[in-house]
Amino acid sequence: MNRLEQKTRALLVNERRLEPVSVEKNMVGFCARCGSDLSSLAYHRMEDGWLVSALCEKDHLTLMAYDNEWSWQGDQELQIYEETGAIQSIQKEQLEAVFTPAEIRDMLAYERGESYTRQNLYRAKAKFERFEKLFGIKIKL
Ligand SMILES: [Zn+2]
Repeated sequence: MNRLEQKTRALLVNERRLEPVSVEKNMVGFCARCGSDLSSLAYHRMEDGWLVSALCEKDHLTLMAYDNEWSWQGDQELQIYEETGAIQSIQKEQLEAVFTPAEIRDMLAYERGESYTRQNLYRAKAKFERFEKLFGIKIKL
């Protein structure tokens, strides 16, 4: 499922994180579910076109795909993701700058409710403050 981070309006799609190029609010069409106006929440750049996160008047979310000439390619489902401090919403490169692969693996496992090594989690937690100083992201675990 494609997810849009509520706070940053970054789009998480196919294991990638796309920061918004623009968060301009424009009328971008009509909702496929209820027919009301769709307004853009964020524009995201892809190699082969654009993705536009949009919300209708009745709070239905849609991810609209366009090619580089702005011809519409189709709609996909979208969810709003509110947990901005969640490990899985943080860029891998940022995590790797501070945490070891084992710590990252176990933080993700803990977040997903899977089994993890307690010691790795303790070690990771000791680095949260450093991570926040470096990247301005407060990790919630
Ligand atoms: Zn709708």
